[in-house]
Amino acid sequence: MSTLPTRLQRLTDSLDGLELDAMLVTDETNVRYLSGFTGDSSFLLVTPQGTSILSDGRYTAQIAEQCAGIETQIRSSTQLLRDVVKELLSSSGATKVGIEADKLTLAEFQFLEAGCDGIEFVSTKAVVEKLRMIKDEAEVLLTRRAVEIAERVFTELVPTLTSEHTEKQVAHEIEHRMRLLGAEGCSFAPIVAAGPGGALPHYQPQNLPLAKHRSLLIDWGAKYEGYASDLTRTLHQQNVSDAFKRAYEGVLEAQLAAIELIRPGVSAREVDAAARAALERHGILDAFKHGLGHGTGLQIHESPRMSPISDEILASGMIITVEPGVYYDGDFGIRIEDDILVTDSGHEVLSTLPKGLDDCRFIL
Ligand code: ZN
Ligand code: ZN
Repeated sequence: MSTLPTRLQRLTDSLDGLELDAMLVTDETNVRYLSGFTGDSSFLLVTPQGTSILSDGRYTAQIAEQCAGIETQIRSSTQLLRDVVKELLSSSGATKVGIEADKLTLAEFQFLEAGCDGIEFVSTKAVVEKLRMIKDEAEVLLTRRAVEIAERVFTELVPTLTSEHTEKQVAHEIEHRMRLLGAEGCSFAPIVAAGPGGALPHYQPQNLPLAKHRSLLIDWGAKYEGYASDLTRTLHQQNVSDAFKRAYEGVLEAQLAAIELIRPGVSAREVDAAARAALERHGILDAFKHGLGHGTGLQIHESPRMSPISDEILASGMIITVEPGVYYDGDFGIRIEDDILVTDSGHEVLSTLPKGLDDCRFIL
């Protein structure tokens, strides 16, 4: 059972409200979301009469396999993609055509416009991305699998860590194990940060042996059939400081308080505020340096953004991360991140790795 026709239908249904005759989808991820096509250099032209995928000869077979039911226009080697766009628009009678203004470069737009006399290209923003915020059953299933793989890698990897392991080796090992378990790879370059490295939210793993440090922050995720998971756990050795332990309890309380609030109708801002209030109670709010979380899907960072300036309202079908963290320069960082599905009645935490202070010990 494919959910792709439903996705296209939702976009087609939105054309009227946007006062458009058609929509030209040029963003690779949006093309994949709507058509199932995983290649590049291809556009979708969506009109109330139907959808066409515009591509070139390299992709004829792949499109036939991945995009059953979508009309295909393969351009010849002497044709430009914009010529095919123009031809199709002329034959469909569409004159007001939405473009993805936040995805097309100015040069691409000018090139397209120069070849399409009589067509009014209308700037739109995040039209398909808004549809992508609400995951359908197939997407939830793939995300669940991406979470499962990431969790299994972590559970199996941590007991094998030795004092000689470097951050970089751990990062490579994560990627290797992900692939062995059927993932396409990591959904982003894993952050493996020992001790003070953890204080940098986007730290890059170094050739630094773990043994020297008493804490270890790992932020990792799998990509499974396009869908991302995104998790963080912060481990510690037995001799970690009391300051670390106190901060850990504060971050965990903040994360649980935020997750507790998640249900349809609640604003992303309120959820973010609940985490901040808990961090404030623990006197560690100053050390929280980013938003609370983000949507995941075909991309690792999607809408809704969970932050104090977000305008998003949570709705059933969204998948979001909740990842409060505190960062102390030169000392340590702590972040705890899980992936949460918003359900009709509340939420489901898709990730299941234990996260209590005592659960997160590592022994070298
Ligand atoms: Zn993460
Ligand atoms: Zn994240």
